Amino acid sequence: MWKNIRILLLLLVLAGVAIHTWLDRIATHSWKETLWVGIYPLNGDGTPSAQHYTDGLTVKDFAGIETFFAREAHRYGVRIEQPVHVELYPQGSELPPVLPPDAGPLGIAWWSLKLRWFAAHATQVPVRAPPRIRIFVLYHDPSTLDTVPDSHGLQKGLVGVVHAFAQPGMVGSNNIVIAHELMHTLGASDKYAPGTGEPLYPMGFAEPERQPLYPQALAEIMAGRRALSEHEFEMPQALRDVVVGPATALEIHWNHP
Ligand SMILES: [Zn+2]
Repeated sequence: MWKNIRILLLLLVLAGVAIHTWLDRIATHSWKETLWVGIYPLNGDGTPSAQHYTDGLTVKDFAGIETFFAREAHRYGVRIEQPVHVELYPQGSELPPVLPPDAGPLGIAWWSLKLRWFAAHATQVPVRAPPRIRIFVLYHDPSTLDTVPDSHGLQKGLVGVVHAFAQPGMVGSNNIVIAHELMHTLGASDKYAPGTGEPLYPMGFAEPERQPLYPQALAEIMAGRRALSEHEFEMPQALRDVVVGPATALEIHWNHP
């Protein structure tokens, strides 16, 4: 008897999670209403300079993301004026769980569950409506590291973790990383070679038909870099030099006439 009840409860929880994921999927793929995205800034390395930078953030620092989504969505026939709205939430004190670099499939599954739990509990801000998608942005003092750790965006749970540089000159490239992870939460896949970071041809190219092919003037958002030659590539400075390619547009359902 009790065993059956326990199994029933477990099935109910699983069904609840599945329904929730399904509803999230519908909400993020319809493009009929503005998607609310919450930015949750965090001091990623505990330095006073990262804190100072985080204290000075305003919602205007993220305006480039809204402009980018509107411009690109309209190219693919999305009709709503503002497909993505970005809100800045107060700085949190707790850092999200870290994905161990050597994590296998089980480790990744466990980490993503912990991250979803963290996102559900670390983002309750009184009086403010919760956003549909939550992006934690961990700021690091650039002098403490050359490259920031890998960022992540999860479609299940609609949550992203972005590592960014705490420097005014990096606002543009930080927004590229945020937009990239946001795209992942919407179902887009990477379009660069995993080992080298090289943009994949043709879907990781902004203009795969361009003659001559190199250098590419723009970058595709899920490649993140523009190819300068066959083996050279660089990250653009801001989202104005980034586009959404047809493959990515299809993945996030920007295919409505
Ligand atoms: Zn990615």
